[in-house]
Amino acid sequence: MKKRFGKKGILLSLFAGLWVMVCAFYTPDTTPVTPYKLKTVVIDAGHGGHDHGCSGASNNEKTLSLKMSLKLGELIEKNYPDVKVIYTRKTDVFIELYERAAIANRNNADLFICIHCNANPSTSPSGTETYVMGLHKTEANLNVAKRENDVILLESDYKQNYDGFNPNDPASHIIFSLNQHAFMEQSILFASSVEKYLKSHAKRSSRGVKQAGFLVLWKTAMPSVLIETGFLTNPSEEKFLGSEDGQTAIAESIFYAFRDYKNDMENTSGVISEEKAKELNAEVDKAPTASTTTTPTVEKSSTDQQKGLTFSVQFYSAQSEVAASKFAKLQPENITYVQENGWYKYRLGPYSSLDEATKKQTLARTNGYKDAFVIAMKDGKRISIDEARALTATK
Ligand SMILES: [Zn+2]
Repeated sequence: MKKRFGKKGILLSLFAGLWVMVCAFYTPDTTPVTPYKLKTVVIDAGHGGHDHGCSGASNNEKTLSLKMSLKLGELIEKNYPDVKVIYTRKTDVFIELYERAAIANRNNADLFICIHCNANPSTSPSGTETYVMGLHKTEANLNVAKRENDVILLESDYKQNYDGFNPNDPASHIIFSLNQHAFMEQSILFASSVEKYLKSHAKRSSRGVKQAGFLVLWKTAMPSVLIETGFLTNPSEEKFLGSEDGQTAIAESIFYAFRDYKNDMENTSGVISEEKAKELNAEVDKAPTASTTTTPTVEKSSTDQQKGLTFSVQFYSAQSEVAASKFAKLQPENITYVQENGWYKYRLGPYSSLDEATKKQTLARTNGYKDAFVIAMKDGKRISIDEARALTATK
């Protein structure tokens, strides 16, 4: 049976009316969250002035990092006129590491991007890596940070400016990299986007997001990354980074990452959920599982233009071009091929020493290329190993 507006009904509607009034007069005391807006970005071209950074055969890091930085800045300025782009340097000048971070802090930057080039005693390592501040998990990461931090030895007052940090003391590197960066997750979010686009757009081989103690990132009060755009000690990467097209491709990749990061952060009011944070932290120093199954880069050799004495390991030849995926096992070695008398000759290298080439020959042989052999080239012309030995002996 239905009952229309009994005592209970009247009481209920009275109560509801009261509730509406209470709600109308009640103003919550929590101020509304101001939406996140990425307003200022600082672009830091590594090195400069009397600090040349690392170098390849004909390029140095300070020049290339500046070219890529200016290109990146131009892209942001053109596409986001409301974003303020600040450069730590626009010319070939020396700026202390602490001052670079201070520039970002003074300008209340929302993002700090350092652009560098990598180096290795061996000519074979290649690929990009993007670093966030933190304790290194591998010796290799530590070595990159050490090389980049060592530039403070070129500064006049480094002992005063880095709280007693001593680049020559290994313990110093560990102690200071324990400083947890407050913007760790945001930094990783941007870093992984950078690596993603360097791989898909610039067609670089990504070595992933990594962590190590970089002095330049240490005291920044905003998400900060340091991008190693490739190895100047690897001839084919040096050629890429030294070219206008290569520099543009790198700058565009970082720009796409910037665009995604800006959108992401503005859509989520700059908040990263606990779940997402966990996901991001797992990104750092992730074992390169994919690299063993993905297709390696096989480039047509430019040995003809190569100056000086170089060594390569010829491990395979065929009368037609071979799919790069066939050489997946040799990833991440530098693979090139030359076309000679109707044959495609596949090689590892080039390397600057016979020793290194011999090691790579062993690597090729253990991977199933039992007939792999070392070849020597002098100014692009094939010479015998004995001739090469004689040349290195007279050096
Ligand atoms: Zn550098």
